[in-house]
Amino acid sequence: MSGADDDAGSADGGDAGRERSVRYDAVVVGCGPAGAAAGVFLARYGLETAVFDRGSASLDRCAFLGNYPGFPAGIDVETFQTLLREHANEAGCALVDDLVESVQRADGADFADGELAPPADDRDADARFVVETQDGRCVTADRVVAATRYDGEYLRPLGGDEMFETHEHGGEEHEHFDPDYADEDGRTEVAGLYVASPAGQRDVQAVVAAGRGAHVARTLLEDRRTERGYPRELARHYDWVLPDSEFEGEWGDRERWETWFDERVPGDHGVGDERLAELRDAYLDRAFETHRSADEVADLTERAHRRLLDNLDDDLVLERAAEIEAERTVETDAEPPVSDG
Ligand SMILES: Cc1cc2nc3c(=O)[nH]c(=O)nc-3n(C[C@H](O)[C@H](O)[C@H](O)COP(=O)(O)OP(=O)(O)OC[C@H]3O[C@@H](n4cnc5c(N)ncnc54)[C@H](O)[C@@H]3O)c2cc1C
Repeated sequence: MSGADDDAGSADGGDAGRERSVRYDAVVVGCGPAGAAAGVFLARYGLETAVFDRGSASLDRCAFLGNYPGFPAGIDVETFQTLLREHANEAGCALVDDLVESVQRADGADFADGELAPPADDRDADARFVVETQDGRCVTADRVVAATRYDGEYLRPLGGDEMFETHEHGGEEHEHFDPDYADEDGRTEVAGLYVASPAGQRDVQAVVAAGRGAHVARTLLEDRRTERGYPRELARHYDWVLPDSEFEGEWGDRERWETWFDERVPGDHGVGDERLAELRDAYLDRAFETHRSADEVADLTERAHRRLLDNLDDDLVLERAAEIEAERTVETDAEPPVSDG
């Protein structure tokens, strides 16, 4: 990744398991469907992203997942959770088996007084948040995405009691994280804090939670790009991988893309010409990096299939391989002998 909006990662080496005081662009709390999707979108964009995952999971209570698109006969929960974690890891997230106990403002000020954190739009600026964990880890992050359907307690230092609501059940009062604390795009009153889950009806089915996680990550990226000077329409990030054919004809010409970009910059946009040219270059570099040739797609496909095979039951893989071999032998035997005249 390169370009003015794509500053290199900020984690200072090592993984969050060994290093203290590691700084991330983004910390995602939870690696269920919502957190995994958020982590994948953020890391693929190029943000240094850590995903912490331990503790109560809604999915653990599901017997078998039969309604997640892409698995025609369903998928067992254990394999699905492994795939979610592997995907986050493969996308570039530091995946940490640890429970987040608190997220606090890095400058020690109290968010509960309604004051918002300053925007951390400068890589050298202090990070907004300090994240502390059960195993004694302490990392900082510019942005945090909460993706923990059953937990929000670790956010209390940021927003206090206003983040919670009480219900009466069985004669007792229970406190829950307010599912409407974040807006429908995941933004909260605390600058840099986003909530993918808990989110009411948006987290009650696995595929909806995954969609919510991806959507909230896109919101975060849009905000970050806007802070860096992109006009709102161009700040939206599309994680699309394009075939070479999309870059043929007039769209193979970078100047055509420059015109397209310029047409979308509002007249009253306050960014100077030099900065705008930097942003345009970064935008176009990123667009041109996304296309893949047929050969590259074939390589990606083989790699993807191997990764899926790694997660299947070995005995079933061998059983199926033997069947395939037997089918191929029958087909070869059935072919007519080659005549030489
Ligand atoms: C009984 C039951 C059956 C269900 N059956 C289905 C079904 O068949 N189909 C379907 O689509 N949906 C089903 N669901 C709903 C589904 O489980 C949720 O929609 C989905 O899991 C929500 O995803 P999530 O990522 O928001 O939360 P979760 O799946 O709960 O994932 C949150 C993750 O965050 C981690 N975590 C929690 N707290 C912390 C912390 N403080 N620090 C670090 N990590 C933390 C957890 O370990 C977990 O891995 C069922 C739910 C229940 C309760």
